[in-house]
Amino acid sequence: MASEAVVLCLSGHDPTGGAGVQADIETVAALGAHAATVITAHTVQDTRDVRRVVVADAGLLKEQLDVLLADVHVGAVKVGLLAGDSQPAFIADVVRRTGAPLVLDPVLRAGGGADLASTGLMDAMRKALFPLTEVLTPNAAEARRLASAEDLDDCGAALLEAGCRHVLITGGDEPGDAVVNRLYAKDRPVRRQAWPRLSGGFHGAGCTLAAAIAAGLATGLSAIDAIDDAQAFAHRALAAGVALGRGRAIPGRTR
Ligand code: PLP
Repeated sequence: MASEAVVLCLSGHDPTGGAGVQADIETVAALGAHAATVITAHTVQDTRDVRRVVVADAGLLKEQLDVLLADVHVGAVKVGLLAGDSQPAFIADVVRRTGAPLVLDPVLRAGGGADLASTGLMDAMRKALFPLTEVLTPNAAEARRLASAEDLDDCGAALLEAGCRHVLITGGDEPGDAVVNRLYAKDRPVRRQAWPRLSGGFHGAGCTLAAAIAAGLATGLSAIDAIDDAQAFAHRALAAGVALGRGRAIPGRTR
């Protein structure tokens, strides 16, 4: 029987299917791996903004993960939306148990503007998860908030210092004709990659990119190759985006 690389996705559920766990499942499947999924939070949202986040029951999360990890070998872990200050420490323990590389997408604010992370959650993320993170994927605003710095190179350096092994700061939320993504890694010069800016906003772009990196790691790519391939995948998915509702387009990950 053939076996398949598994990405454990710990993400929120978005009823539009644009972001969160559905973004993970579609992306990971499109890249030839399998998504095993545990829901960290439910959300009330449309394609414009998030209205409410409801944290998943901690006992249920523990039970789901205990049973899953006793059975399934995990090749990479992807963490998205977290809710509640105690989730980072719990998830850090899960990551350690898998021994698999962690891709952490620090979801602090929805594209529509809703705030999705308290100071306590950010502190817990920094303390418990950054030291275990193989690839951190903040957008520019998230990097500035997490690093308490303005200049993106300073943010990259601070996030490496906090324990992340690679930091990909995406530039979709910065002004300019091109989207410039910056990759920071220890003892390497910063690498800037520019992508043509696609018109209109997108809902679920960050989830798609982070899940694609995790799929690359699970299928045996190096972090740098996984990051390169994932950016190309995310760009293609955005170019194939569809307008689902009255807000931002969602990526076309399966087309
Ligand atoms: N909802 C969930 C469950 C998410 O994971 C995210 C982002 O990661 C969002 C909403 C916000 O997505 P966006 O900022 O692309 O609209």
